Amino acid sequence: MPTATVKKVHNYSAGPCILPQEVFEQAAQAVLDFEGSGLSILEISHRSKPFEAVMARAQALVKELLGAPDRYQVVFLGGGASLGFHMVPQNYLKVGGKGAYVNTGEWATRAIKEGRLAGDTVVVASSEDRNFSYIPKGFEVPADADYLHITSNNTIFGTQYRRFPASPVPLICDMSSDILSRPVRVDDFALIYGGAQKNMGPAGATVYLFDPERLGHTGRKLSPMLDLKNHGAKESMYNTPPVYAVYVSMLTMEWIRKAGGVSAMEARNAAKAALLYGAIDRLAPVFKGTTAVEDRSVMNATFVLGDPAHEPAFDALWKEAGISGLRGHRSVGGYRASMYNALPIESVQVLVDVMEHFARKNG
Ligand SMILES: *Cc1c(COP(=O)(O)O)cnc(C)c1O
Repeated sequence: MPTATVKKVHNYSAGPCILPQEVFEQAAQAVLDFEGSGLSILEISHRSKPFEAVMARAQALVKELLGAPDRYQVVFLGGGASLGFHMVPQNYLKVGGKGAYVNTGEWATRAIKEGRLAGDTVVVASSEDRNFSYIPKGFEVPADADYLHITSNNTIFGTQYRRFPASPVPLICDMSSDILSRPVRVDDFALIYGGAQKNMGPAGATVYLFDPERLGHTGRKLSPMLDLKNHGAKESMYNTPPVYAVYVSMLTMEWIRKAGGVSAMEARNAAKAALLYGAIDRLAPVFKGTTAVEDRSVMNATFVLGDPAHEPAFDALWKEAGISGLRGHRSVGGYRASMYNALPIESVQVLVDVMEHFARKNG
């Protein structure tokens, strides 16, 4: 079990974000001398044996950690989850077919926009009516849709699916901000994708985990760069993959594995979320959560002050305590505490102490 190093800065950044300290150290070392080769990880060919081993290990770790069935493929590409929004209809929407989406926030909205550019796109449920503060439930999915697209964790608005909807059509999920934070039943998804930079590694790599049997057959002509089947067949080496980002993602996944895997991450993350949401609720009305309680995100806790006029005083307190990155997204305001896998619970305790101190003075 790796030790959780408490850093002087308590980093609540929403992404790119905190990674384990030992990963930073290993990643720094590999820039100077990659596995004793006398070469930097930055100067070796992506087709060299040592890097092929890194890629194979990173792909295997995604499958092992998530318990994916053998037939699933893992591809690492550039372009971020935002390119993923475009890849989804390109690879799954039949010509003349229909894509179904649930709109739970800004990222889902962008995915829908890309769907509309490609063809018929229906929004089967949305929480836009209350500024995306909840997860819609009990909606109907048309059985003739080519896929249903959801966003498992809404990084900006602070909501998260506790249970995924049952879908009569292939389920596709943008898991950018909670992949590897909890177990999921991979078999339920035709495609899981996400930018690495929220939980899996640094910015620059985007992971696609897909069932090849539920891919393609759209009747669409695709550029090879947009074709998941092509990237899968070429083992993510159709063109130069994001070598360093894949390497650091591999290190991060090794850290998760050593720490007990995604079930251990789930327990760690649940403890952190209970500590912080417990404080938000206990200290009401000085602090107020912004989302429906049952849909609260374990990864990104959003909250505001009962009296926004006190924000400068609160900001001074948390900054003094060595906290960084707590400001909320402009579309929600207030604060957002991102508590990804690598954030130690000690950092959450520091924030809770600051909140208690602030509430005593301003309650
Ligand atoms: C950050 C984020 C994105 C955007 O990722 P990029 O890598 O910047 O394209 C998409 N979806 C979710 C849920 C995110 O958190």
